[in-house]
Amino acid sequence: MKNRDTLLFVGLLVVVTLAGIWGAQQRALDAAHTDSTSGSVNTRAGHFMVSAANPHATNAGYEILAAGGSAVDAAIAIEAVLSLTEPQSSGLGGGAYMLHWQADEGQLDAYDGRETAPMGATPELFYNEDGQMGFFTAFRTGRAVGVPGVVAMLAQAHAEHGALPWAELFKPAQRLATEGFIVSPRLATSLVSYRVASDRQTAMRDYFFTQNEDGAWAPVPAGHLLKNPAYAQTLSLIAEHGSAPFYTGEIAQEIVDAVQNAPVYPGTLSMADMAAYEPIRRDAVCLPYRRFDVCGMPPSSSGGLTVLQILGMLNESNLGDLDVGSLEAIHLITEASKLAYADRNRYIGDPAVVPVPIEGMLNKFYLRQRSREIMPNHAAPKALPGKAGIQTGALKAWGDNVSKAQPSTSHFSIVDGDGNAVSMTASVEAPFGSRLMAGGMVLNNQLTDFSFAPADENGPIANAVAPGKRPRSSMSPTLVFDENDDFYLAIGSPGGKRIITYVTQTLVGLLDWDLPMQEAINLPRHVQAGDASNLELEANTALSAQADALRALGHTVTVKPITSGLHGIKAVEGTYEGGADPRREGTVRAGILEYLE
Ligand code: GLU
Repeated sequence: MKNRDTLLFVGLLVVVTLAGIWGAQQRALDAAHTDSTSGSVNTRAGHFMVSAANPHATNAGYEILAAGGSAVDAAIAIEAVLSLTEPQSSGLGGGAYMLHWQADEGQLDAYDGRETAPMGATPELFYNEDGQMGFFTAFRTGRAVGVPGVVAMLAQAHAEHGALPWAELFKPAQRLATEGFIVSPRLATSLVSYRVASDRQTAMRDYFFTQNEDGAWAPVPAGHLLKNPAYAQTLSLIAEHGSAPFYTGEIAQEIVDAVQNAPVYPGTLSMADMAAYEPIRRDAVCLPYRRFDVCGMPPSSSGGLTVLQILGMLNESNLGDLDVGSLEAIHLITEASKLAYADRNRYIGDPAVVPVPIEGMLNKFYLRQRSREIMPNHAAPKALPGKAGIQTGALKAWGDNVSKAQPSTSHFSIVDGDGNAVSMTASVEAPFGSRLMAGGMVLNNQLTDFSFAPADENGPIANAVAPGKRPRSSMSPTLVFDENDDFYLAIGSPGGKRIITYVTQTLVGLLDWDLPMQEAINLPRHVQAGDASNLELEANTALSAQADALRALGHTVTVKPITSGLHGIKAVEGTYEGGADPRREGTVRAGILEYLE
C-alpha cells in the first residue's frame, strides 16, 4: 500500500460527474486510465468515489478526496454539509453509525456515535399526567433530545484514520453556511409536508421562514439562497478547537439551553451529560453469504444483526435461481424478514444495559432451523421470536418493543484513493428532529426510538428508557467483502425500521442476481418491516401487479409510495461503480488521483 507521505497529487485525470440534476438517477464509472482489469485492490490505486444524498455533500466529499483526503476525512466534510443542506435528515445535532475499512491493514471498525439519554431520564420519560404520550406529542419535546454523538464519533475516527488536518474538513460547509446554499426541492417540500410550524418552533421559524410585508410567515421555497451564520460560527469553533466546544464549551451550553427551555416538555439534558458523551468503537458483525462476507453495525443498532439474520435464512434457499422480483423471491424474503424482526423486537437493546445474544442470533444452525419455519406457499400471519436468546436466560421473558420511527436519515458511501471505505448512516430521527435548534443545527429527537413502555405482559423491554442508555436503531451501514477479503461494496439507506428491508433487498439484488449498483438501488421495493404480516409494495412499479397473487398466499398487502435513500459503491473490474437512489436527490462523483514516484 502506498504511503501517504510519498503521495503527490498532480491532478485529476478523469472526473465523471453526474451531479446537479435534482432527483435524477445518477451513476458514475471512472473507466479511463486503469492499467489493469484484474480486480485486485492495487489496480484501483488512486481511484476514489463518493455517493451521498445531496449534491452539495457529494461535492464536499469529492473535494476532500481529490485533495488526497482519506475516506474518514471525506465523511467529516460530507456530514458537516448535510447538517446544513439536508437538515431534515441528519446533522451534527444528531447521531450516526460508521463502518470503516482500512484497506492496507485489512481492518474493519464499527463506530457507534448514537445519542445517549441524559442521566435525568427515567423509564417514564414519555409519560405525562394522562399516561403514555402519543408519538407525535413526544417527538417535538425537549425530553426527546439525546446527547448528539456525531461530532465525537467523527473526531475519534479522524484521530485513527484521518489524513488531512481536521480544520480543512469543515471548509466546504463553512463556505456554504456563510455564502449561502440553494434550498433543494426536497428540503422545501419537507418544511411544508412535515408541518414545521412558524408559531411554536421559533428558532426554526427564524431560520427556515421568511416574513412578508403583512407579517405572514412562509417557509423558504426551493431555489432560495439560505445562509446560516450561526452554523458557520459553530463550524469555526469545531474546526479550530476540535470537539471540546461541542461537549464542554459554548456549543454545549447552547444545546443544553435549547433543551431545558423547550416550549413543550423541556428535557433534563445537562452540561454533565454533554461532557460524559463517549463514542464507542465496536466489532462489526459479519456473516458469510454466498461467496461474500457481509458486515454490518452491531447493537446499539438492530440494523446489522437483522439484515444478517434475514440473509442467513436466505442462504438456505436458491434465491439466485429465482427471477428478480418473482413471486417466490418476494415471498421468501418477506417470511425471512418477519422471523428476523421478531428476534429483533425481543432481544435487541443497548448492549451496555441488556445482554444481546449476538452469537446465538447469528449462529448458522439456529438460522437454518429458523429458515425451516418458512412455509413455501403460505404467509405466516405473525412470527414469534426464536430461542436465540436462550443461553442468556434472563431474556426469556422479555417483552417486545414496537418501533415507531419516521422516515428521515441519510446514508453515504465513500472509497478513497487508497481503497479505504466508509459506509455511514446518520440521523436526527424524525424529519427536522425535535424541532429545536442550537448553534444553527437541528437537534435530534432520537430518544423516541426507545420503547415508550418500560415493560409489557411478557416482562421488561430490552429497549426501555434508562439513564445514559442508547436507544435501539435500525440504521444499517453495510460493507461487503469478496472471497479474497477485498472490498466489494458499501451500501445503506434511511427509512426508520424499513431501512433493514431496503438494505437486504438491495444486497440480494447485488449478491444473488449480480445487478449493477444502480439497478439494485432502482429495484421496486417490497417491504416487510415487522413480525406481523404487513407487506408494502412500491406504488407505480411492476410490483403492484403481484399484489393479488401475494394476497392469495396469505400476505396482508398494501401498495403505497416508498422512499428509500440507498447510496452505494461497488468494486467492478479494477474500478468502482456507484449508485444514488432516484427516489431522493443524491449524486455520485468519481475521480482518479495520479501518483508520482
Ligand atoms: N431513528 C431511526 C433509527 O435510528 C432512523 C430514522 C429514520 O431513518 O427515519 O433507526
